[in-house]
Order: sequence, then C-alpha cells, then structure tokens
Amino acid sequence: MSESRTGRRWRTAGVVAIAGGTLALLPLTGALAGGEDPADGDGAGGGQGHPRSVIFVNGDGMGAAHREAARLEQEGFDGQLAMDQLPVAGLQTTDARDPEDTVTDSAAAASAWATGVKTYNGAISVDVGGDPLLTIGQQAEAAGLAGGIVTTAQVTDASPAAFFANSADRSAQDDIARQYLEVSRPEVVLGGGEDWWLPAGDEGTHPPRTGDTEDPEVSRSTQGDLVAQAEAQGYEYVSTAEEFAAADSDRLLGLFSNEEMFQQRPEGQGDEFDPVVSLADMTTTALDVLSQDEDGFFLLVEEEAVDEMSHDNNAARMLEAMRSLEAAVDVARAYVAEHPDTLLVVTGDHECGGLTIEDVDAEDESGPGGTLPQETAVEGGTESGEDGPFVVAGTDGAYDFALDWTTTGHTGVPTVVTAEGPGSEELTGHYPNTHLYDVVSSVLFD
Ligand SMILES: [Zn+2]
Repeated sequence: MSESRTGRRWRTAGVVAIAGGTLALLPLTGALAGGEDPADGDGAGGGQGHPRSVIFVNGDGMGAAHREAARLEQEGFDGQLAMDQLPVAGLQTTDARDPEDTVTDSAAAASAWATGVKTYNGAISVDVGGDPLLTIGQQAEAAGLAGGIVTTAQVTDASPAAFFANSADRSAQDDIARQYLEVSRPEVVLGGGEDWWLPAGDEGTHPPRTGDTEDPEVSRSTQGDLVAQAEAQGYEYVSTAEEFAAADSDRLLGLFSNEEMFQQRPEGQGDEFDPVVSLADMTTTALDVLSQDEDGFFLLVEEEAVDEMSHDNNAARMLEAMRSLEAAVDVARAYVAEHPDTLLVVTGDHECGGLTIEDVDAEDESGPGGTLPQETAVEGGTESGEDGPFVVAGTDGAYDFALDWTTTGHTGVPTVVTAEGPGSEELTGHYPNTHLYDVVSSVLFD
C-alpha cells in the first residue's frame, strides 16, 4: 500500500517482548536500528538526513459535514479552515472488525491507526483475539523518539490510549495510565481524567461533582496513586492553568479535570465547553517539549468534544469544539512551517451524529429535539431535530444554515484526511484507516 516502504528497513525488529499479555519495550540503539551512523547524512529518519516527526490531529467524531459546518461558521463562503488548507487530502474508511457492530468506536479506529490492524470495538491495540499489538507510541519510545498526548478527553481515553497502551477493554483507564508510566512513557501527557490517576478517597485538585448523580466524577484508580508514581519518575505534575503556565520540564503530566475537560450534554442541560487550558495552548507546550528531542517525536492532538457534543446532537457546542480544534491546527501548522521534516495529519476517527447541513426551512421533516423552531414538529417524532440557525460568516446574517442529525451514535461514512509534510503524498486517494499506520510508521521509523 505504501510505496515508500519498499527498500527501507523496518526498525522495529527485536523491539518488543510480550510477557503476561503486556508489551515490554527494549531499548533500541542506533546501530541495532539500522546499522547507520547517526552522524552521517543518511542517518535516522528514513534516509532523509534528519529525524522526522509526526503531529497527528484527531477531531474525534469529525466527518466532512463537521468540517464544512465549521468552515461556513468560521470563514464563510470564500474562506477556508487551516485544517482544509493542507495541500493533500484523502478519504479513509473506518469500519471495525467487531462481532456485532459494523460501525467503529474510537477504540477500534485508533487501534487501526496505531497498529495497522483492524479490531473490535472497545479494543485498545489488541487484536480480535485479545493479543496485544505493537503501537506507534511504543515503537517511538523504543526507537528513542519522544511521545506526546494532548487531548480534551481523559488522557487515558480510547484514542490516546490506543497509541500508547494495550488493553482488551477501553474502560480500564487506570491500567492504561499505569502502562503510560511503566511501558510507553510519553514525555508529555496533557488533558483530563485525573479520576483515573488517584485512588478512591483522594480527590486531588478536582473535587467530585456533588449532586450530579449521573456523573459524580470521583477518583477511582485501582492502581494506587499514579500521580505520585509519575512524579517519582521525573514527571512534573500540573493540574491548574497557573501551574501549566509555569511548567518548565522535559517530562510533563497535566490533568486539568476529573474526566473530559468539558461537560457533554444536550443544549441547556448543563452543557459546557470552556476548558481551563485550551487545546491550542496544550499543543504549543507539547511541541516546545517534544521538539527538544533530537530523534524526533510523535504527538497525538485530539479535540474530543466534536464527538461527544455530536452524541448529544448539540450543534452549538460542537461548533465551539471545532474552533478549539482549528486553533490547535493553527499551532501545528506554524510549527510545521518552521520544521518541514514534520508530517501533519488532520482527520477524524469516525463520523458522529450523521450530521448534515441544510437550508433553514421551518417546514422541513425533522421533529422535536433540535434548537431550530419547526412548524411541522410533531410530538413523538424523531429526536434528531435540527439545530440552528447558524449564520454564515461574513454575510451580515444574510445567509444562514441549519444542522440536522440522524443519530446520537457514530456513523460509517468515510472521514476526510488532510496532510502536509513528509509522507503526506501517500495520503491522497481512498483507503482504509489502517493506511495511516503505514504512512506514519514509515515516516517515523523507516
Ligand atoms: Zn463517540
């Protein structure tokens, strides 16, 4: 599938030992990696004379309609998002290999990216038989590259987890955190999910949501105090915006909320999107740290609220999440402009919500559930009503649009991939999501 692989050496042989179902990484020296002198002009980094890095941006749940709605709302008819200005575009199919479901979840989709293997929903980089698979994050660590996670989800949520851990069950987030510390050791881990790092009774920086019976957000690590373990391993731990701004370390753990860094709810039911630290600022800090590694790095950047607000058919908050993602892409693009040996990929692991863009039409067929007033809304009709109206930027309100949903779940439509930098030429066309593994691993390790 990837021509660039031909004739290149894989640097992964002998990297990994599997004991008790857990991957253990063995250090890989430059000599073992390729027998090349790193000082000569044809050293690490695919014979390009310099190491290469990858910034992989996941708008979780982001399909083509999410991108287009954000373009209309942010840039208008003649504008273009930064994520859509990348010179290479392709489409990826996202189907899982699940005993029951055709449509993927984030775990199976990210496992396909991280390992090149299709698997079942809920799997964190294990195959359909439950056996662990070597991941890009683990490969990066073994090859001496730096690794990083930036997300508005729990840092141990399915998408980042699949790049840096193995688990038969995506819900085992405390064990995934333990694997970050003991196995894959990413240099930068920034996002939410403090509850999974602290044992019951130790609420840390972020108190439970008292009175919220649906989501009380209490600490629940069964692996002990993983924050203390991280600090003992040399991580600087930060959990507030002030501590984050003052962070000055080459190994950084930041947990800025109990769970997600937002509240995913339908409109007016406690929905919030106001992360205490922005995705863009987390991305800036991560790049500052990771770029110090002379061997290159792999960084995953994720805006989780695109997916979770789409699950709630909350278009206004989804569009806020798209602004957050777009700002992070701006940061990544500025970095790539200064570091052209970096591959930047912006995509979504799957579509969520069955979103589409419609003209505002009060006689349209959709029923109650949306924010757009509907003449024909009938009691007991579909819950996937239309949201809006949203104004097209730059039109002084002369043009608007509605956003309509068909489901509160994921859908199986292909998602858009845009890219620039080394290897991006391999991302044109229409391909399965496993192809992103081929391209990213080739850029980093060949
Ligand atoms: Zn989802």
